[in-house]
Amino acid sequence: MTYVVTEACIKCKYTDCVEVCPVDCFYEGANMLVIHPDECIDCGVCEPECPPEAILPDTESEAEKWLELNREYSERWPNITRKIDAMPEADAMQAEKGKFDRFFSQEPGEGT
Ligand code: SF4
Ligand code: SF4
Repeated sequence: MTYVVTEACIKCKYTDCVEVCPVDCFYEGANMLVIHPDECIDCGVCEPECPPEAILPDTESEAEKWLELNREYSERWPNITRKIDAMPEADAMQAEKGKFDRFFSQEPGEGT
């Protein structure tokens, strides 16, 4: 089992999730984070720290379609281990639906 990040994360980067992860298994894209499924220890502490509720356990049906994206991009994007500034539009975009099709970027973030 693992936790996965879903499209609700796009344009957030509050990164409260990163702060609490005991094994530093978040990876940073240009406007989204993902979790490495093989590194996550299923502790669940990041889930309630995510205001847009973007983090789900893979046991939830909604999480299934995001698992491969988390796996693929956690291999391509840099590790992020510390809190950074949120994206300027993070508050406004928090409840937005359908962010993947409109805003997903394959580009890597900077990592920390
Ligand atoms: S708090 Fe949630 S939505 Fe924000 S960066 Fe972390 S996982 Fe993404
Ligand atoms: S469930 Fe635990 S180990 Fe997995 S990403 Fe969240 S904080 Fe990290």
